[in-house]
Order: sequence, then structure tokens, then C-alpha cells
Amino acid sequence: MNKLKIAIQKSGRLHDDSLKILKDCGISVDNGKDQLKASVVDFPMEILYLRNSDIPQYLEDGVADVAIIGKNVLIETQKELEVVENLGFSKCRLSLAVPKRESYTSKKYLEGKRIATSYPNTLKKFLKENNIHAELHIISGSVEIAPNIGLADAVCDLVSSGSTLFNNGLREVEKILDSEACLAVSPAINTEKKQILDELLFRIRAVLKARRSRYILLNAPNEKIEEISNILPVLKSPTVLPLVTEGWSSLHSVINKDDFWKVIDKLKAAGAEGILVIPIEKMVI
Ligand code: ATP
Ligand code: MG
Repeated sequence: MNKLKIAIQKSGRLHDDSLKILKDCGISVDNGKDQLKASVVDFPMEILYLRNSDIPQYLEDGVADVAIIGKNVLIETQKELEVVENLGFSKCRLSLAVPKRESYTSKKYLEGKRIATSYPNTLKKFLKENNIHAELHIISGSVEIAPNIGLADAVCDLVSSGSTLFNNGLREVEKILDSEACLAVSPAINTEKKQILDELLFRIRAVLKARRSRYILLNAPNEKIEEISNILPVLKSPTVLPLVTEGWSSLHSVINKDDFWKVIDKLKAAGAEGILVIPIEKMVI
């Protein structure tokens, strides 16, 4: 039987979250990452553990049918690979940073400077678009130490919290792009595997929707139900169930998890009590 070959990072930042999202989709992996390949139970799929930087080539060649990979890597390799879903983890940005003590006022600062990076193609494109001429130093890791050892005047590197830059006396000055893990597809995928991919995508979307949402329950006096319903940032109207206590109801709904803190004060002011916010495992709507 045909199996969908999915490439994921063998080890590194994307590895655990990649396996986690597959697990949440009901796909559990049989053997450890010591092998190049792993089989899975309950789904027509095979896992290929690869170096992140090698994945775009394997997709292009059709060795892997799909892959979980950082968008930054796809952009850097400049291959025409289709992204079918953003996966919401490993969010980061590719940014330029300079030593803290330097006064940086515009991109012109970079003219004639030495910039250390592991992302030469993306950086070159950015410099060209901004008509800046700089000297690139391509290094494969620990880019942030380059200014301190006198190798470069600036760095172009991935940033999430910014603490690595901070600890190395650097300050982020320009963002080149935003990145997150995504599901990318080989141009060589066949019809049968495309069907398996569609099934996988259906499951992934149900998991992503659930991860972004929370189930909310609260108690309210009946005369406040309408006001509270209007505050709740939901698509459909909430479910209302009567409480044993006369004149009170329980409201149930689904909210975007990031919206909860924005409305909590208003909910309380409107008379909501006993507010519970609960994670959702899967969501199909
Ligand atoms: P390889 O597997 O080829 O060794 P790598 O050394 O680039 O790849 P990691 O450093 O584990 O691998 O990074 C993998 C991916 O994780 C990056 O391509 C990026 O998408 C994401 N990433 C990198 N740095 C950060 C960060 N600081 N915060 C969040 N995500 C990041
Ligand atoms: Mg590495």
C-alpha cells in the first residue's frame, strides 16, 4: 500500500513539536529517532528523520512527499515548494542586530559593514532590495558571537525572545521576515498520496483550531445573559442551561484563547461568576 512519506527534523528545535502534532492527530510513531525511517501505527504514513537544511531538496526530488519545516528554511533555499498549512509553533523572525552601543538610525548604517549569517540568500535579497552593499560572512552556527570576536559588525539571525542577542550585547534593529513551522508539499506528490495528505490536513486543522480555542463556562443572572453574550467574542451564540438556583443560568461557549484576558474584566463587570476556561482537544466545525 502507498504510504505518505513525511520528513521531520531529526533533532533540534522542531523535532519534539513535530512529533507532538502528529500524536495529537492520532498518529503515533513506532521506533526511535536513531533510525532514518520510522513507521507509524493507524495511518498510512512513514516518517523520515532528516537534517532541517536537507529537507527542501528531498521534497523537490520527491524522496519525501511532505515535510514539517521552518518557513525560513524554505525561503532561504529559494525552491518553489507549496506550503499547505502554517503549524503555529517555532515562531521566530529573521532579524538584523548590531552591538548595543552602536547608534543605529537607518538601514544605511549597514552600508559597507560585515554581516555574519547562516541565511545568506535571504539576507542578500534584503540588502539588494534596500540598495545596501555589505560583506557577508556565512557561518553555520552561533552567529551571535561574531561581533564579539571581531568577525563581523552586525548579525542576521533567527530571534524569538531576543535573549540570545541580549546576552551577547546585541540589539535587534531590522526584521527581515517572520517564520513558523509549516507543512510543505513535494511538487512530485501523486494522486493517491495527495488523498492521504488531505486526511492528514483535516486532522491537523482540527488540532490547530482546538489549540487556538478554549471552552468557556460561566454563571450569570438571567437578565444579564444578553449583555454577556454580546461581550463573548464567539462565532455562534452561547449555549444557555438553567441552574438549579432560580433566576440563574450557565453559559457555555468557545472563545479564541488570546481573547480571554481582553474580555475577563467586562464579563465580571457584567455579572458573570464562576468562570471556567478549559482546553479543547479537537475541534471540527
Ligand atoms: P539542522 O537540522 O539542519 O541542524 P538547524 O541547526 O537550523 O537545522 P535548529 O537550530 O534546531 O536547526 O532550528 C530549526 C528551526 O527552528 C529553524 O529553522 C527555525 O525555523 C526554528 N528556530 C530557530 N531558532 C529559533 C528560535 N530562536 N525560536 C524559535 N524557533 C526557532
Ligand atoms: Mg543544527
